[in-house]
Amino acid sequence: MLEVDCPCVTPEVVLKASGHVDKFTDLMVKDEKTGTCYRADHLLKDFCNEKIQKDLSISAEKAAELKHVLAVLDDLSAEELGAKIKEYGITAPDTKNPLSDPYPFNLMFQTSIGPSGLSPGYMRPETAQGIFVNFKDLYYYNGNKLPFAAAQIGQAFRNEISPRQGLLRVREFTLAEIEHFVDPDDKSHPKYSEVADLEFLMFPREQQVSGQSAKKIRLGEAVSKGIVNNETLGYFIGRVYLFLTHLGIDKDRLRFRQHLANEMAHYAADCWDAEIESSYGWIECVGIADRSAYDLRAHTDKSGVPLVAHEKFSEPKEVEAMNEKEALDMKSSLETKGEVEFYVCTLGENVTIKKSMVSISKEKKKEHQRTFTPSVIEPSFGIGRIIYCLYEHSFYMRSSKAGDEQQNVFRFPPLVAPIKCTVFPLVQNQQYEDVAKIISKSLTAAGISHKIDITGTSIGKRYARTDELGVPFAITVDSTSSVTIRERDSKDQIRVNVEEAASVVKSVTDGHTTWADAWANFPHHSSGSVED
Ligand code: AMP
Repeated sequence: MLEVDCPCVTPEVVLKASGHVDKFTDLMVKDEKTGTCYRADHLLKDFCNEKIQKDLSISAEKAAELKHVLAVLDDLSAEELGAKIKEYGITAPDTKNPLSDPYPFNLMFQTSIGPSGLSPGYMRPETAQGIFVNFKDLYYYNGNKLPFAAAQIGQAFRNEISPRQGLLRVREFTLAEIEHFVDPDDKSHPKYSEVADLEFLMFPREQQVSGQSAKKIRLGEAVSKGIVNNETLGYFIGRVYLFLTHLGIDKDRLRFRQHLANEMAHYAADCWDAEIESSYGWIECVGIADRSAYDLRAHTDKSGVPLVAHEKFSEPKEVEAMNEKEALDMKSSLETKGEVEFYVCTLGENVTIKKSMVSISKEKKKEHQRTFTPSVIEPSFGIGRIIYCLYEHSFYMRSSKAGDEQQNVFRFPPLVAPIKCTVFPLVQNQQYEDVAKIISKSLTAAGISHKIDITGTSIGKRYARTDELGVPFAITVDSTSSVTIRERDSKDQIRVNVEEAASVVKSVTDGHTTWADAWANFPHHSSGSVED
């Protein structure tokens, strides 16, 4: 997978071709007196939730109706949203004034490029476009063969109507996207079998609309039954599941929800969101979309070459340029109207052909290759949201043995923890401090991020501090020849030689071995009641 790094400021022509200029919108309503703007779906959602949770007088039928509205909320058109807002008498939350009908608001920040002010541009709403405009070169670097993928991490900008939910809906955020280009006629994936047996919570469209909840489904079954559109989309859903759970996201608070038909972005053919449950509810953290060929067809590179791939045939194939019915339809249209609209796939647009321009005859020709627009599967990771959810899922409160104190702990997996290890002398003593510094040096040499703590605070407090930072291991220097390594979650300790300490921590934090291996291979150390 090749990584690219493209600019944030994007010329209008790129985002026009991708459909964002015309269709990257959210529905907004205005307070008719003050002009304050609100997201229409948010108002309807808040109204339904409030009624269901707080209004004890509503009937069971009404509650069921409101629940159904919530389930299909993302699927409602502007007219349907407007009708519901009217039907429920929803007014502006701050003033109780009447609201306008919902209308689309484009989420892109507009700017102009260069001093003339004549070249419109936008801050990129996604990083994908930088990859699409560089398709030709990326295709070449990959030996002009599909499938291949490119990735980009960078800032994306969306002029959200109502930023809310703290850090989760912001106007500038870090996005990491993979664009995996495939032949639309062959969406198999060579490594699909590695993920096909994974089983996790999935929430297909039909279940949402009929008011059911997410269920555990084997990924292979979802693909073979056609619930997930194709193998490559399934493969990436599986990889996103593995990525998130390896980070430390709780698998029981992770589900893959399929977009409803109207909810899908203008470019998508099928789309699944990895949603993580947090104190704000279920949050979309990764979108995995099969972007239909329509999206890419309109793209051309700087010199006007369309975004196409080629498949060379081993033997030339005989083809008819057009099937007979199409040709006859065209002929009759040319004879009656004198002209006909004709879609040119490599241009991505219709052209008008006049009678004088063509003659129609039946011919067969030999083709040596097929030219087509690739499909693209796109996992799109919202980094801020994932990290926020990771903090929530990793956090727990642990009671002390005596049960009189609560201690905050972040249970980050060693591979992910920002700081892997703390080093401290058991007591303030020059010799122990020197050993701590030697270990710190070898940790640095091994590339292990760590903290050295030579404050005189009690050992119990220092352990509590390191647990609260989510540091998985602590090395305590209690002699000049050997030291202890303590694991955060079990609080178990092993004893190792000073020279081995860094390599034991490295092996476990790199994922080459586990704490269980270390526990089996080294003598155990009991600290008595020092921690509690
Ligand atoms: P989308 O292209 O809308 O599917 O967005 C891709 C990913 O970007 C989502 O799955 C979110 O994780 C993230 N994202 C979208 N909008 C925002 C936002 N306003 N603030 C933070 N993250 C966002």
